[in-house]
Amino acid sequence: MVGERSKQAFERAQRVLVGGVNSPVRAFRAVGGTPYFADHGEGPYLYDIDGHRYIDYLMSWGPLIWGHAHPNIVRAIAETAARGTSFGVPTELETEMAEEIVELVPSVEKVRMVSSGTEATMSAIRLARAATGRTAIVKCIGCYHGHADSFLVKAGSGVAALGLPDSPGVPASVAERTLTVPYNDADAMEKLFADRGDEIAAVILEPVAGNMGCVLPRPGYLEAVREITRRHGALLIFDEVITGFRVGLGGAQARFGVLPDLTTFGKVIGAGLPVGAYGGRRDLMALVAPEGPVYQAGTLSGNPLAMAAGLTSLRMLKRAAAEGAYERLESYGRRLVEAFCRLASNYGLPATGHAIGGMFGLFFHDGPIVDFETAKACDQALYADFFREMLAEGVAFAPAQLESGFMSMVHGEAEIEKTIEAMERVFPRIANR
Ligand code: PMP
Repeated sequence: MVGERSKQAFERAQRVLVGGVNSPVRAFRAVGGTPYFADHGEGPYLYDIDGHRYIDYLMSWGPLIWGHAHPNIVRAIAETAARGTSFGVPTELETEMAEEIVELVPSVEKVRMVSSGTEATMSAIRLARAATGRTAIVKCIGCYHGHADSFLVKAGSGVAALGLPDSPGVPASVAERTLTVPYNDADAMEKLFADRGDEIAAVILEPVAGNMGCVLPRPGYLEAVREITRRHGALLIFDEVITGFRVGLGGAQARFGVLPDLTTFGKVIGAGLPVGAYGGRRDLMALVAPEGPVYQAGTLSGNPLAMAAGLTSLRMLKRAAAEGAYERLESYGRRLVEAFCRLASNYGLPATGHAIGGMFGLFFHDGPIVDFETAKACDQALYADFFREMLAEGVAFAPAQLESGFMSMVHGEAEIEKTIEAMERVFPRIANR
């Protein structure tokens, strides 16, 4: 349970911070409404200010693929900081970072660094609109692409958790340029394009959905969307803010062999510092200023500390990938899903789950979970019980069922076994409510 110091810290925070937090999901509204406050982290563990230790599967919502405070990343940040924190002129670190991304991600030929996932997706659709001369974009119901106006239409993540699928403050004239279809439904996409294809600049898609829980693309779905967009002269944008360098070294596009025109990144490429990026075909990226007329800029874009952290992380990932690290992450995720489903079935509870690379999802639902409709039909009250009981056992999963779980390269056998043992103690408690 959340301790006294965290409770007090939250009360104090609420006097001066909106909802006590700087990002709505941190308020834990879906699971009781009081977050634990972090004191520090070490590897797969987060320690809260009450002195509780958690095996952490939130991992800052995805960035920490090397766990908390990895010594190499901390050292890279400290050494870089000692030389200056921002210059406003180019550094070689930015080029090195872009070289890594271009080398590892199959469709990306040129990159622009930004400071968050939201900036990346927002800039990518501006570019898509400029490149096509069209204004509509298509997103999937329950996918989350950050909080820019165009994306707060039937969005997932915290927007869905708060029951605010559409946000006040977004002009109707902007929202109506965002067309939505169910995830994993190629027929719906085909039909939308048949009706309005000549208005559509781009489809933006999470190639593995991570903001309605972790939902896998059906076989052939990504290929179908690729084919439809190409046929209609629209761009395909893969939002790999979560999946990039997480479902595999080359992201979802390498894993599924489907190449988008543009890709957005965040989270893992910054290793816990504020970073995003967008990139793609050279001819498209040439439209961005200063090469082209599409304006997009940032005082802290390509910040040296963020580049140093991200580069260190990506280089370590390259070495780890060669030794089968992503397969290990996925096998750990599968073990959690299997244990969750086995225990749920023993206690007569509905359950299903998915694991891919370093992402996983646990659902109290018979399944299959293929889109937002099926994801939101899961038993969220039961999940809240499960979350609280697991927390009391020292295991921190995502504080909402419609979010992904994140495995890191520093979770090991010991943590997986302890997590499964904790589940074995928790299931009889939640089943008997
Ligand atoms: N796209 C996806 C797929 C995301 O999951 C997120 C954040 N969870 C974003 C974009 C926005 O990134 P940020 O929070 O860094 O703005």
